[in-house]
Amino acid sequence: MSSEDIRFLHSGPLSPIKRWGTKWSLWPVHLVTACCGVELAHAYACGYDAERIGSLNYGICRQTNVIIVEGAITRKMAKVLRITWEQMPNPKFVIVMGACGLKGGLFWNSYHMVRPSEVVPVDFFVPGCPPTPEALIRAIVQLQDKIMTGEAKTSAEFKEVDLGKLLGVVEEAKPKKPPKSPKKVDPKPEIVIDKPKEVEWEFGQKLVEELQKELAGLFESITITDINRICVKIRSDNLLTVASKLANRFDHVKSVNVIDVPHENKFIVEYVFGSYSNKELMPVLVNVATEVPRDDPRIASLAKVFPSADYMEREMHELFGVWFEGNPWMGRNFLLSPDTPKYPLRKDFKLEEDSYVLEG
Ligand code: SF4
Repeated sequence: MSSEDIRFLHSGPLSPIKRWGTKWSLWPVHLVTACCGVELAHAYACGYDAERIGSLNYGICRQTNVIIVEGAITRKMAKVLRITWEQMPNPKFVIVMGACGLKGGLFWNSYHMVRPSEVVPVDFFVPGCPPTPEALIRAIVQLQDKIMTGEAKTSAEFKEVDLGKLLGVVEEAKPKKPPKSPKKVDPKPEIVIDKPKEVEWEFGQKLVEELQKELAGLFESITITDINRICVKIRSDNLLTVASKLANRFDHVKSVNVIDVPHENKFIVEYVFGSYSNKELMPVLVNVATEVPRDDPRIASLAKVFPSADYMEREMHELFGVWFEGNPWMGRNFLLSPDTPKYPLRKDFKLEEDSYVLEG
């Protein structure tokens, strides 16, 4: 249907029937983007039953006329949102729920956030974190009222947008000052990962003694940091040997973390080992921590010894630029959108707003 046809239907003699039909046929496409989606589910479940006001979720965008954006939209998701919107027939409406959809909310000033209003034309915002189901239903009812009075914008009234240009505006966006951080940051924070704690943990004391024997000559310190928590500090060139020895007791790497310490020109790399097969070790987490220089952050990959380390190493590589030698995914894009600026979790990463805002 052309823009002219839609305008005729909205303002011509058939317009009351058209508006009435649209009012009672607001069908949002299933596009759950973040945790606000739970509240959307709540609004449509039996308690609130949004279907009684003529709104019913549909799975296929070509048979829907509303997008309810549930909270955060990331750089990757922005393209999905826009492509979904492009595929929906006219007239179509957009409701954005959640503080994240307004201006980033919880993720304000984060490298991966995009405001939905810069990707699609928005009819209603529903504030809150998360907004209540009542608030969402109120937005739907208000949209219906606006449709009936003819005030609701239809997509036909928005200027045509060149999707290719829109998605490629990263280079063309006008320079803007990055927003100020709301936080006070200590320029030289003291980072202690092996602070000992006096706890009653007999099994832990025994385990530490055994680890001290097994890893003799390979560690700098082994500390109980809490009940069920042990920190083993090592030199980075001993990582592979230490991991091979720990493989006798622990069967997986639970997480890989990197701490950026720019004022000491280093990264702290941590591998957390756990066990699913040994009942006594199940609650225990052993944190093996080492340091690598910040200007050449290279360390051996543990992916061959512990396959579960693989994707977490790739993630740390993309976020911090640490190179895990032996992991075949190094240097390749994995999690982030390809246009994300490099190493967004480094402390000196500067968010340039023009690099993530899409302007139509
Ligand atoms: S507004 Fe709150 S509930 Fe909604 S997506 Fe953001 S963080 Fe989640």
